[in-house]
Amino acid sequence: MKVAVFSTKPYDQTFLTRANEGHSHELTFFEPRLTLETMPLAVGYTAVCIFVNDQLNAQAIEALAAGGTKLIALRCAGFNNVDLEAAEQHGLTVARVPAYSPHAVAEHTVALLLTLNRKIHKAYSRVRDGNLSLDGLLGFDVHGKTVGIVGTGRIGIEVAKLMRGFGCELLAYDLYPNETCREIGVTYTTLPELFAQSDIITLHCPLTPETYHLINPESISQMKPGAVLLNTSRGALIDTTAVIEGLKTGQIGHLGLDVYEEEADLFFEDLSNQVIQDDVFARLLTLPNVLVTGHQAFFTDTAMYNIANTTINNITSFAHNGRVDNQVTLADVVA
Ligand code: NAD
Repeated sequence: MKVAVFSTKPYDQTFLTRANEGHSHELTFFEPRLTLETMPLAVGYTAVCIFVNDQLNAQAIEALAAGGTKLIALRCAGFNNVDLEAAEQHGLTVARVPAYSPHAVAEHTVALLLTLNRKIHKAYSRVRDGNLSLDGLLGFDVHGKTVGIVGTGRIGIEVAKLMRGFGCELLAYDLYPNETCREIGVTYTTLPELFAQSDIITLHCPLTPETYHLINPESISQMKPGAVLLNTSRGALIDTTAVIEGLKTGQIGHLGLDVYEEEADLFFEDLSNQVIQDDVFARLLTLPNVLVTGHQAFFTDTAMYNIANTTINNITSFAHNGRVDNQVTLADVVA
């Protein structure tokens, strides 16, 4: 099958090319994101393969269908960037990689927490500079703290297991509480209660109209003063301006982000020689108790291997039967 692969970096090319051995799809790698503007590149390709910041709104989907595309193969788990209603209307199948390594994202979440708490990022540069003083490096014991997990799906469960290992109390909120979490010792509660009781709040629910700006002035005011907030899910779960206010007053004590609501124009690029135009993002980077990584939580060798293999299998299955196991439909949004 002819596949146009968008938002590709050298590592995507390496893993996808290897996974394609024996499948023989004709993969064409494009560096730009797939948006309405870059849509002409997709004309004539039966499948497009996209990532988290490609934007397939209704207009883009209409153009994609007009160009002859039948399959949208997401090489990620989240699908908030694809208008599924428009895809259904235009007869386009949407496939994703539902699970490639929940461990990768869960472990990165804990890495953000420990780095922020024990100020490893500061210690690293200090020690290299010959400064071995401890002033300003005071942390806290994670043991015994209450962790509030919003969304206890594949990744949330792994975070629960890791934090249980640290000896934390575990609270969670999910539309569909699960037994695995209860067995680990998670107590399900309401969102306001989770915000009020948790020392550490970590977001693992998908971005949907209901979860957009879940963290907003009201929810921030419900939090324990000095709470740690972690987001490795999707940027728009957080109203960033409100969180900056919370950081300025001390209501939020630490912020660890792997995702940012306006990340599409920033992330995955080397901007070190440019002036960052996004003032909200630039402000975040000035705060000593904020740690931002550029959507790298998924980025392990295991995850990349699994993403590439599932993506190629999705494409092969569609080529053979016109169907995919990992199809995403409107029902998944409602479910
Ligand atoms: P999942 O589908 O297994 O779990 C999501 C959970 O959220 C489910 O239990 C679901 O019931 C719950 N949920 C849905 N709506 C909710 C709501 N309104 N309130 C509370 N809970 C709600 O997904 P997952 O594999 O655990 O991934 C979680 C998210 O992590 C994905 O949606 C994706 O956006 C993000 N993600 C980020 C990275 C990264 O590199 N930073 C990598 C993979 C996934």
